[in-house]
Amino acid sequence: MKDGFGRTIDYMRISITDRCNLRCRYCMPYGIEPVAMQEILCFEEIEAAARCAASLGIRHLKVTGGEPLVRRGCCRLVKMLKQVPGIEKVTLTTNGVLLEEYLEQLLDAGIDGINVSLDTMDPKRYKDLTGRDCLASVLRALELAAAGVPSVKVNAVSLDLGEENWTDLVKLAERLPVDVRFIEIMPIGYGKEFPALDHRELLDKLKMLYPGLREDRSQHGFGPAVYYKIPGFRGSIGFISAIHGKFCSSCNRVRLTSQGYLKTCLCYEDGTDLRAVLREGWNTGEKEGHYCWPEGLRPDDAELQGRLRKAFEEALRKKPAAHCFEEPEKITEAGNMASIGG
Ligand code: SAM
Ligand code: SF4
Repeated sequence: MKDGFGRTIDYMRISITDRCNLRCRYCMPYGIEPVAMQEILCFEEIEAAARCAASLGIRHLKVTGGEPLVRRGCCRLVKMLKQVPGIEKVTLTTNGVLLEEYLEQLLDAGIDGINVSLDTMDPKRYKDLTGRDCLASVLRALELAAAGVPSVKVNAVSLDLGEENWTDLVKLAERLPVDVRFIEIMPIGYGKEFPALDHRELLDKLKMLYPGLREDRSQHGFGPAVYYKIPGFRGSIGFISAIHGKFCSSCNRVRLTSQGYLKTCLCYEDGTDLRAVLREGWNTGEKEGHYCWPEGLRPDDAELQGRLRKAFEEALRKKPAAHCFEEPEKITEAGNMASIGG
């Protein structure tokens, strides 16, 4: 699938809930306005949207949130998405708090990769940043995942927490077969209150600490990270620098929010209401508190896929050329990262 600027779009992030069991300071320090469960896409709707996306060329799906593992049945959804024709990889982004509990089910579902978000290795700082004292269980889950999941990455938002905070995270890639990636904070929601640190400074420090550090050009996934290899390390170190290393010209992604809004760029609120397309002509049914299609009935699949396809294609035509994070007055996205899915 090509967008209006000829970029190949083959990656869709799907947020399956706005809720979360952490309160990261830069994301949702005070929680979120509760959204009625009926407003959230049910798994059948997500699967229908994924099927349409795959028919248009999406190959990789990322399940995200909020915290995806707090939504009941998350592993079942992973399994459903793995069966969508054309989808090659289904991966998950999680804070890791519930990962130990669900790892086995995720492996059974066929998960291809797990990203664990972790910004510090210091238990006190972890509690201060996230509101919960559970670093030990996240690290336990990370070790277990590293031993069984084909690809495990640690994602750390680059915060001004001192050199040791960075180097302690980097050392995880020495001990475990995981890539450790630093992500420049973006001015979305509470992220606006934090400065976007320039990764070049960190890279220079790492070069001094590890003189053997070299750029690693091997394929690590589907994203814009730039990777480096340190001799003797089991994983690589990656940098995702959306602001100081703008990569919009090679953007390959779209985002589906938990309420079914298809977003083509993080920076702008523009998008397409896929939920309206999915629910057109249907009265709300309900199962376990969630919206569902009425008992025993499903929309005509060919007709629904046709409508979804039109909506996807129209959204893609309008995908902006680039974000405008460096000009904050032009940012129109007023939502928070937890709703968008990162
Ligand atoms: N709860 C899951 C987690 O933390 O991995 C999935 C959702 S979370 C919104 C996805 C990713 O977005 C996390 O790695 C988080 O650190 C990152 N994130 C949140 N706010 C951000 C911001 N303003 N800029 C950059 N990344 C952000
Ligand atoms: Fe929750 Fe992830 Fe946001 Fe932290 S970054 S509050 S874990 S959604």
